[in-house]
Amino acid sequence: MTTAKPDAVPQSASPTAKNEQWIEKAKAHLLQNYKQQPIVIERGLGSRVWDADGREYLDLLGGIATCGLGHCHPEVVVAVKAQLEKLWHISNVFYSEPQIELAARLTAASGLQRAFFCNSGAEANEALIKLARKVQKDRGNKDRYEVITFQNSFHGRTLATVTATGQAKYHQGFEPLPAGFTHVPYGDLDAVREAVGPHTAAILVEPIQGEGGVRSAPPGFLKALRALCDEQGLLLLVDEIQTGMGRTGKVFAYQHEDILPDAISLAKSLGNGMPIGAMLCTEEAGKSLVPGTHGSTFGGNLIAAVAANVVVRKVTEPQLLRDVTQKGEYFLARAREIQSRLPTVIKEARGRGMLLGLELFQDAAPVIAKCRELGLLVNAAGEKTVRFAPSYFVTHDEIDQGLRIVERALKG
Ligand SMILES: *Cc1c(COP(=O)(O)O)cnc(C)c1O
Repeated sequence: MTTAKPDAVPQSASPTAKNEQWIEKAKAHLLQNYKQQPIVIERGLGSRVWDADGREYLDLLGGIATCGLGHCHPEVVVAVKAQLEKLWHISNVFYSEPQIELAARLTAASGLQRAFFCNSGAEANEALIKLARKVQKDRGNKDRYEVITFQNSFHGRTLATVTATGQAKYHQGFEPLPAGFTHVPYGDLDAVREAVGPHTAAILVEPIQGEGGVRSAPPGFLKALRALCDEQGLLLLVDEIQTGMGRTGKVFAYQHEDILPDAISLAKSLGNGMPIGAMLCTEEAGKSLVPGTHGSTFGGNLIAAVAANVVVRKVTEPQLLRDVTQKGEYFLARAREIQSRLPTVIKEARGRGMLLGLELFQDAAPVIAKCRELGLLVNAAGEKTVRFAPSYFVTHDEIDQGLRIVERALKG
C-alpha cells in the first residue's frame, strides 16, 4: 500500500514549472503567516507524497502528526466516500450515528465517560479550560480559575490556548492576554507544587512536548501530577492532541503511566487528516457542561466522524500498537547509530513510538531544506530539533531510507 505509485502523475515542460507557478500565486494571495517549504504537494498514498511537478517524497511528517494511518488510507477513503453520498452535516441540533459511535469508541478506549466534539486542537483545549473553570464554580470554588501549564508547551493559537502555551514568542504583540494562566518548568514537580494557590483550578500538561521539541516528561511525572491534583482538588487535564490516537504505542500517552486524567483533548491524528477535535472527560466533570454552556456548529461533523471511527478502530488493535512501539525503538536505535557517527552534529535522539526528534547542535531549518531536496519531508519542532511523526504503517525500509537521507543532509 505504501509503495504503490499513483496513476497519471502530471508531467510539465520544466521540472519545477508547476510548483513555481503555484507558489507565486500563493505569495500573492495567502496570508503570509507561515514559513512554507517551497513545494506544492498534490497527492499522497501511505508514507509517499508527490508534488505538482510529479516529484516523489518520503513523508515522515505525516501532515504534522495528523495522518497516523498514512495518506489516503483505503479504509478511511471507503468510509468517507460512503458518508459523502449519504449526509454531510446535520449539526448538534440532532443526533447522528457516526458521532454517537465515535463517542462510544473513544470513551471505551480512554476510560473516560463523556465525549464532546469540535474541529481542531485549540478548540479541544478551549473546552478543557472552560470545563475546569465551570467544574470549580459548580463545586463552590468561585475563585479557582487559574490553569497551571508548562514552559515550552504548546496548546494552540486562540487567545486562551496561546496564553496557556508556555512560549513567549507566541504571546508577543497579542497583549493583553486573558487572565488565569501560569507556567512552570516542565517535569519539575516542586515548581508545580509551589505554583498551586487559592486560584488554581487545574493543571494542563502534554505527556510529550511535541511542538516544543519532542521532549518527554520524566517517568512518573503524570502520576505525581495526578496525586497532586487529587490532594489539592484540581483537575488534571492532559493535552493528547499530538500524542494521542496510538502515536506513542498506547491509544493515549497517559496510559503509559496508568493514570486517569479528569479530561483530555484530542485532534491531529483523530481524523487521519479530516479536521476533528474532541474533549473527553469523566462523568463527574462532564456534569458541569449543561445545555447552553458550550457547543460547536461543525463539531462532530459526519464526514470527519466516519474517518475518526476508522482511526479509533485501527489504533485500538493491540498488534498495531505493538508495531508502533517496535518501529519507534527501531527508529531510535538507527538514529543513535547516526549520532555515534556524527557526535558533534546530533545532540540527542529522542521520542516514543511514531513521535521522534533529533536535536542538533545547529539550527534545524537548513537540514530540513536539504532533506526535502533529497526527497524527504520532515519539519522543525523548536529551533534545533528535526521532528518525525510518520504514519504508523511506515516500513522499516522507509525508516532506513529516511535516516540515510537525514545523515546525508547532516553531512552537508
Ligand atoms: C497541534 C497542537 C495543538 C493545536 O492544535 P490545532 O489543531 O492547530 O488548533 C494543541 N496542542 C498540541 C499538543 C498540539 O500538538
